[in-house]
Amino acid sequence: MIELTGIGKYYKQGFGKTHILKNIGLIIDQGEFVSIMGPSGSGKSTLLHILGLLEEPSEGTYNLLGENVNSLSEKQRTEIHRSTIGFVFQAYHLIDELTVYENIETPLLYQKVGSSERKSRVAELLDRFQIVAKKDLFPSQLSGGQQQLVGIARALIANPKVIFADEPTGNLHSEQADQIMEVFQELNQKDGVTIVQVTHSEKNAAYGNRIIRLKDGWLV
Ligand code: ADP
Ligand code: ADP
Repeated sequence: MIELTGIGKYYKQGFGKTHILKNIGLIIDQGEFVSIMGPSGSGKSTLLHILGLLEEPSEGTYNLLGENVNSLSEKQRTEIHRSTIGFVFQAYHLIDELTVYENIETPLLYQKVGSSERKSRVAELLDRFQIVAKKDLFPSQLSGGQQQLVGIARALIANPKVIFADEPTGNLHSEQADQIMEVFQELNQKDGVTIVQVTHSEKNAAYGNRIIRLKDGWLV
C-alpha cells in the first residue's frame, strides 16, 4: 500500500544542508497498524507528513496505492489526500467556530457530497463514537478526549484507506488515551483501515502490529 524508496529530506542551511531523513526504505501493507517511535528531533513528524502528503521529500520515491505520488500535480495530490487519507493531529486542529457536527461534516463539503448523505454519514459516526449528545457543542466545550474523537470522526468521514496520526494522545490523560487507541484498534481490525501513528508511548505502540524506530533521521 505504501512503499518508500531512498526517501531523504534536507533543508539548506548556510552553505550546507541539514539532513532530517536519510535514505528511508519502508513498506507498509494494507491493514497494518504501525507505530513510529524515536527520540525528539529524530524525524518522526517529518516522515509522517511526507507519508500523509503534507510535505514533499527532497529525494526518493513514494508509491501510495500503486501510484507514484512524486510525479503528481498539486491538484492530483490534493485529490488523493481527500479521497484516501485521514489525518489526526496531537492538538486536534478542530475549527473553534464550528460545532461538533459541522467539524465532522467539513471534508464532505469539499467533496460536494449531497446533504442527505452528509447527514447520514455524520450521524453514523456521532453514534459510533457515542457523542450524539455533543453534536451542537463547540470544541471548547468538550474534554480533550472528546475533541480527539471528533478529530478522528472528521478524519474518517470520507472513508479513508489510511489514517496518519501525529501523537494522537499526546495531550490526553491515560484513560482517554486508551480509549483512542481502542478506537484505532477497532478501525484497524473491523474496518481494515491502515493506521500509522507517531507515539512516544510504548503502551500505545503495543496496540499496533509493528514499531518503526527512527534515530537521527535513520530508520534503525
Ligand atoms: P520528531 O517528530 O521526531 O521530533 P521532526 O520531524 O519534527 O522530529 O524534526 C526533525 C528535525 O528536523 C528537528 O531537528 C527539527 O528541528 C528539524 N526541522 C523540522 N522542520 C524543519 C524546517 N522547516 N527547517 C529546518 N529544520 C527543520
Ligand atoms: P517531538 O515530536 O519532537 O516530541 P512535538 O512537536 O510532538 O515534538 O512536541 C513539541 C513539544 O511537546 C516537545 O517539547 C515535546 O517534548 C513535547 N511533547 C511531545 N509529546 C508529548 C507528550 N506526549 N507529553 C508531553 N510532552 C510532549
